[in-house]
Amino acid sequence: MHTVRLTGSHKTYRVGKVVCLARNYSEHIRELGNEVPEKPVLFIKPSSSIIGQKETVVIPLYSNECHHEVELAVLIGKWGRNIPEENAMAHVAGYGVALDMTLRDVQAELKKKGLPWEAAKAFDTSCPLSDFVPADRIADPHRLRISLKVNSELRQDSSTACMMRRIPAIISEISAMFTLEQGDVILTGTPEGVGPVAAGDQLTAEIEGLGSLEVSVR
Ligand code: MG
Repeated sequence: MHTVRLTGSHKTYRVGKVVCLARNYSEHIRELGNEVPEKPVLFIKPSSSIIGQKETVVIPLYSNECHHEVELAVLIGKWGRNIPEENAMAHVAGYGVALDMTLRDVQAELKKKGLPWEAAKAFDTSCPLSDFVPADRIADPHRLRISLKVNSELRQDSSTACMMRRIPAIISEISAMFTLEQGDVILTGTPEGVGPVAAGDQLTAEIEGLGSLEVSVR
């Protein structure tokens, strides 16, 4: 069980599930040659995949190609099922910076065979998370610069304005499938620029207003 902190308060949340959206930025869909999905493409990371600030991503021995994906993370503050879009933002406790570390070679094999993605997406250390900033301190989460550096090289640099599905729609659609509970986290997809990382790399993920998340790779 992993706990995340809401900054500026003593409040902590035990993370239940991490529900992740794939293919939510059109330029990223293009770079991987995927199709724009009609319905959200979802997968879940277990709480055992979470690591925190300054911790280490450990690439599993069964992969030779681990990619970074920087993503806006949404922390759920209250229980909900079948949440209508117009009430969705009331379920958000805060926003944070996340990495959806992905074993691209393993995922490509699984996709080819039509198999689930867990081996590529849900491994231990695959979900670095920052602390969360209270939702009421972020005027518009759909207008934040989002970027990622490997060592000092800028690899991803976009805006959450480029998300195709916005947070109210994401929460509404997810909650029609899975009850959202306090402490659940939603990862909202990555912009273009994903690429490989190697042992020894330092990753710095940043989202405007939310601060930065730094991890190393082993
Ligand atoms: Mg992702």
